[in-house]
Amino acid sequence: MKTEFSLTQLADPDIAEADKILRACVHCGFCTATCPTYVLLGDELDSPRGRIYLIKEMLEKDRPPTADVVKHIDRCLSCLACMTTCPSGVHYMHLVDQARVRIERDYSRPLPERALRAVLAWVLPRPKLFRASMIMARLVRPFAALLPASKAAANPGLLRRIKAMLALAPEGLPAPGPAGGSVFPAIGERRGRVALLQGCAQQVLAPRINQAAINLLTRHGVEVVLVRDEQCCGALTHHLGQDGDALARARGNISVWQKEAEQSGLDAILVTASGCGTVIKDYGFMLREDRDFAGPAARISALAMDITEYLAGISLTPSSQNGDVTVAYHSACSLQHGQKITSLPKELLSKNGFVVKDVPESHLCCGSAGTYNILQPDIASRLRDRKIANIATVKPDMIAAGNIGCMVQIAGGTSVPVVHTIELLDWATGGPKPGSS
Ligand code: SF4
Ligand code: SF4
Repeated sequence: MKTEFSLTQLADPDIAEADKILRACVHCGFCTATCPTYVLLGDELDSPRGRIYLIKEMLEKDRPPTADVVKHIDRCLSCLACMTTCPSGVHYMHLVDQARVRIERDYSRPLPERALRAVLAWVLPRPKLFRASMIMARLVRPFAALLPASKAAANPGLLRRIKAMLALAPEGLPAPGPAGGSVFPAIGERRGRVALLQGCAQQVLAPRINQAAINLLTRHGVEVVLVRDEQCCGALTHHLGQDGDALARARGNISVWQKEAEQSGLDAILVTASGCGTVIKDYGFMLREDRDFAGPAARISALAMDITEYLAGISLTPSSQNGDVTVAYHSACSLQHGQKITSLPKELLSKNGFVVKDVPESHLCCGSAGTYNILQPDIASRLRDRKIANIATVKPDMIAAGNIGCMVQIAGGTSVPVVHTIELLDWATGGPKPGSS
């Protein structure tokens, strides 16, 4: 694609990066076929190619984004299916990230929407606040029916979004997991030492996931540390275009992980929520222009691994009988498109005794996508219904996924237990059956 940035514009490293990405696009449109919003809405402007044009116009003309541009960028899930499909290697993620920052900076959203986004950005990354808000949401939820019914809409209003938020609140919350600063020694001879990302929403909604990871790792000779003063990885605010907050969190995490690595050694920083993993692996890029943090950020990104990547290098010891359990493996977008981890989790599950089934249309997002299921509830619901219908065709006993957002989204529409891949692997190697403890 031909671009027309001025030399002054190209002196800005972000614009230079956007120029490189835009020039790689050859308009072929292959990406439209796998884009969930194009598949559902059939509008070119809700396809990757259409959005690339909109972003190009916005950046080249250096104009504030229009309401129409914002509408189509907001509808993008950042699922990155387009990056998997694109034959020209267009790095859509870095382009849309830049567009979101520009929208946040230059576009004035209606007040209710600004307020909702501010609340989400403030509450979700803070586990104590998030826990309190979930308890409140649970109390308020019975009154949600009193809110006026709103039609399904491609541009939902505040009430529709509040309803969607209340619907996501769980029936009850488990007790909090172990605190930052905890160290779990290896059982037997120590073969490795890793940090385990504590996460923000996940540690409130499902501390059992990291507990399963700790149990499995220590049982296989790996010491696990929950690094003190670690915070949310920044993914939530990054996807809302609030890069000041996201980069501050990234710098904070880099500092504490680096200190831990220097003082006690770390073989890896393991992540059980693939949405977080994708962003931590991108810290090196996000901070490439930061004189103080560029090097450390690149080193931290290199240390970050999805838990399944690390387990592939360990010989797991199967112990329980689970040969009859059929598992539908839901491939989280952030794992398959963001990190290109596709077959590894399935191979681990198969090797450890599960009958693993691929889900038809597995490239399509389930509609979770960070805060997307709150901000775009109707598109998200349609994607969830489609995902659940596809999962049902393989008649699973359980559904496995590697990302808490997908787990909550899918569990909201099915009675089949939805578990994390690591819970199944822990069970297969001597831990409790998921849901039994
Ligand atoms: S990230 Fe997903 S929703 Fe957004 S343009 Fe690409 S395929 Fe479509
Ligand atoms: S598939 Fe790649 S090159 Fe083709 S239109 Fe989409 S982004 Fe551009």
